[in-house]
Amino acid sequence: MEEKVVECKDRLCPKHGDKKLKMRGRVFQGEVIKVLPGRVTIQFERMIKLPKYERYEKRKTKVHARLPDCMKMDVAVGDLIEIAETRPISKMIHFVVAKVVRKLEVKA
Ligand SMILES: [Zn+2]
Repeated sequence: MEEKVVECKDRLCPKHGDKKLKMRGRVFQGEVIKVLPGRVTIQFERMIKLPKYERYEKRKTKVHARLPDCMKMDVAVGDLIEIAETRPISKMIHFVVAKVVRKLEVKA
C-alpha cells in the first residue's frame, strides 16, 4: 500500500502550513452547503429552549470555515464534515475544516 502524497502549498493548512494554524476551542459538525476556493460553508441545527412554552425550537446555524488545499478534493456539497475553531483568518472565517465525517452517497 502506497500512501497518497498530497501536495499542499497552503500556508494556512493546519497540517502542512507554516503559519501554525492551531485548532482549539469549539468543534462543530455540519453539512456542507457551499464550497468555494479556500473555504466552505456548513450548516447545522441546534436546539433552543423556550422556557415560556417549555419546548425546544430548531434553529439553523451557518458557519464559514477555511478549506486547506490538501482537502479541497475531498469535500463536496452534501458531505458531513467536522470543523474546529481557530484564530480569525478573515472577517468571516475563524474555523478550519478538521475532517470529513461522512461523504454524501453518490448514486452511479
Ligand atoms: Zn495541507
